Amino acid sequence: MRLQDKVALITGAGSGIGRETALLFAAQGAAVVAVDLNEASGEETVHAITNRGGRAGFVRADVSKAEDCRAMVDHAETTFGKLNVLFNNAGISHAEDDDAVNTTEAVWDLTFAVNVKGVFLGCKYGIPALRRAGGGSIINTASFVALLGAATPQLAYTASKGAVLALSRELATVHAREKIRVNALCPGPLNTELLMKYLDTEEKRQRRLVHIPMGRFGEAREMAYAALYLASDESSFVTGSEFTVDGGITAAYVTPE
Ligand code: NAD
Repeated sequence: MRLQDKVALITGAGSGIGRETALLFAAQGAAVVAVDLNEASGEETVHAITNRGGRAGFVRADVSKAEDCRAMVDHAETTFGKLNVLFNNAGISHAEDDDAVNTTEAVWDLTFAVNVKGVFLGCKYGIPALRRAGGGSIINTASFVALLGAATPQLAYTASKGAVLALSRELATVHAREKIRVNALCPGPLNTELLMKYLDTEEKRQRRLVHIPMGRFGEAREMAYAALYLASDESSFVTGSEFTVDGGITAAYVTPE
């Protein structure tokens, strides 16, 4: 078991990457604190784990709220005794996020509150707990859009993911000697609710697939395996990385026909 005796907190654990990671981490021996704004889906993740004999607890939290983030970390320590892995994964992509001219301040602020402040607050309360555990691993979900510009703009989302990369690098540098590793996971376009609600026709999906050398969308499970590596001691010399798991999209200039 690759996460035997570890305690992992995962935000956005009710869906997509967060759920798949929660299931995989639990199957690899971790006790999982599943955090989500959506109580029903978060509880569902926990039931799926406990039904298979794993250990997990649910905390309803809005990662953009300091009090909620303090409470989710407290839950990990009071229920499971410690925190070893912090996966700041919750994120939103707003339907009205557009270019600079058309994006409203409200959409910009909400996107940054969840995608950037949420990661900051997770670290603000999580790092002291990781210190108490003698070190640990933080994984922050960024995106391939932090590395490439797109002609279909989502300016607030793109900028927020760039901020996640920048803060992850600095945290990795600051905390390296405390044995706290910090890496950013950069998923490519995935076959999850977050993206598929926009790519809702075959034509739109094909337009996007043109850019992915592998010619398909990624699956949340494939991100979970990358997170598993970053969470486990197998990645003990990996910190400050931009871990791209993207079917080659950031490597490509022209893709095969
Ligand atoms: P998803 O929408 O399937 O899951 C996100 C989860 O986060 C949901 O369960 C939602 O309830 C929860 N959430 C939203 N706001 C929250 C808040 N304020 N507090 C707590 N929980 C909240 O999305 P996903 O595809 O699994 O995405 C997970 C992460 O991966 C996000 O950070 C996203 O930006 C990133 N990402 C996704 C893709 C993609 O193509 N799907 C690509 C690159 C990066």
